[in-house]
Amino acid sequence: MSELNLILLGPPGAGKGTQAARLRDDFDLPYYATGDILREAVKEESELGGEAKSYMDRGDLVPDDVICRVVVERVDSDEARDGFILDGFPRTIPQAGELEGALRGLGRRLTATLLIDAPDEEVIRRLSGRRVCKENGHTYHVEFDPPKNEGFCDSDGSPLSQRDDDEAETVKHRLEVFHAQTKPLVEHYEKEGVLRRFDGTRAPDEVNGHIRATLATLRLEEEL
Ligand SMILES: [Zn+2]
Repeated sequence: MSELNLILLGPPGAGKGTQAARLRDDFDLPYYATGDILREAVKEESELGGEAKSYMDRGDLVPDDVICRVVVERVDSDEARDGFILDGFPRTIPQAGELEGALRGLGRRLTATLLIDAPDEEVIRRLSGRRVCKENGHTYHVEFDPPKNEGFCDSDGSPLSQRDDDEAETVKHRLEVFHAQTKPLVEHYEKEGVLRRFDGTRAPDEVNGHIRATLATLRLEEEL
């Protein structure tokens, strides 16, 4: 069986997290969200973790080569020998270059970069309509999943509110940052011929089906 070495890209609210969870189950692949594995490396007090921590403690960005080494340490482990899912790395073209060089050094290469996309208007509609209950964090959507009594939780009657992160203006800003960061990467992976686009406005099951079909085709091509 050929490896599935995957990168996930996508704006907030397009269902990237949901698809990541499905892929982990479908293909039994480890999922590496960069923020999480950096924090784990720091907690484990590995040499590399210590190095990352020294930057974080000073309030500096952890340099590309350090982040890349943390990622590669995980990628080059037993659990990732059949593949992996990377989320949040690479974020920049230099990071993409570091990753490709490191994979080459391991005799591996990227299988695909999966872009789960959705238009800005749809992301804003999805995120700005979310409401969360105060007591237990039950979630609703004013349009797609409204509570029976407007403004109150069905289960415990506590008031619903919007997270700061989900306010329309904040979502717009998050999208601007996302586009500025991601556009060069999308172009890069398109040029490399590894970018695969998926329509995040479709139902999660349907998106998952498309991704699985695409990966099955890629694996067949590799085995020929
Ligand atoms: Zn509730």
